[in-house]
Amino acid sequence: MKNIFLVTSAFLLLFTLSVSGQAPEKPHVVILTTGGTIASRSDAPSLEGHALVQAVPQILDYATVNVEEITRTGSSRITPEIWLRLGKRINEIFSQDGTINGIVVTHGTDTMEETAYYLNLVVKDDRPVVMVGSMRSADVISADGPSNLLQAVRVATKEHSKNRGVMIVLNDEINSARDAWKTDNQRVQTFRSIDHGILGYADPDTIIFYRNPSHLHTVNSIFQLDTIEALPEVPIVIDYAGFDGSTIIQWANRHPAGIVVQTFAGGRMSSGALEGIQRATEEGIPIVIASRVPGGRIPGSPSVAGTILARDLPAHKARVLLMVALAETSHKENLTSIFNQY
Ligand code: ASP
Repeated sequence: MKNIFLVTSAFLLLFTLSVSGQAPEKPHVVILTTGGTIASRSDAPSLEGHALVQAVPQILDYATVNVEEITRTGSSRITPEIWLRLGKRINEIFSQDGTINGIVVTHGTDTMEETAYYLNLVVKDDRPVVMVGSMRSADVISADGPSNLLQAVRVATKEHSKNRGVMIVLNDEINSARDAWKTDNQRVQTFRSIDHGILGYADPDTIIFYRNPSHLHTVNSIFQLDTIEALPEVPIVIDYAGFDGSTIIQWANRHPAGIVVQTFAGGRMSSGALEGIQRATEEGIPIVIASRVPGGRIPGSPSVAGTILARDLPAHKARVLLMVALAETSHKENLTSIFNQY
């Protein structure tokens, strides 16, 4: 049994009791921590999960929280093994406890969109899962972590946050896990859903949603985590002007489960990439073509027979989808259909 600690402040509870005579029922949120800038301080070790949450006592105005540390690492060190563990734990928490209103996951922003999209595909519950991080560490002036964490918890408590897939909350903005890209190296408004737009806002007076995610997710997803022990190897190869295609061929010789090639706008590619992709498809390796351009999608049908188009998914998210999808099928038509729906 995992060790879960209740972080209810006795002082606040007593205060509430003495004012109302009775403790009001607050929503129940589980916070799973993984590290990242939100937990980091420039001259000290990263904050342990409970300390991170205790630093924002305002959370207790909105929810009763349990905190569990999954890992404590910068998100550049997050691995598919951690995705699996995190996804299984979220499904376990939801299936064991119907009283939990939502789950918040604290995470570094560098690979947050990959973890978020992965969870969006494999979480089997319509209750909110909210990813949160920060761009500024805990000890600098105008650190954004405390406010982001508070807003994430508020989003997770809401009934109307249900069935919107996994969300990313930073800078008071709610983005869909599928659509959000980290777009700025430093600014707090880094997550943008380029063509799709935000899902909504965490405003001071309310949590407001403007739209629903446009693609299948969570409860409507076909992907089953229970049977997956490890995710398959899927590298990303980047095309560029003058590319000779050799890295695609080197990868193909290793026979990975699939390869994602990040090409130019519209899925156009160098002659080296074309040659490498043709060789890899002859080997029967599923190849997904993604565009390096954030706006729009790759239209039409693949220019190289036997490949799959990532449409508007960037290469790093196409890789996540391919890794998860390959556990279900390696059939090209099925993979194409999956890439059109998720
Ligand atoms: N280095 C950090 C990370 O873990 C950056 C951040 O969290 O914003 O991704």
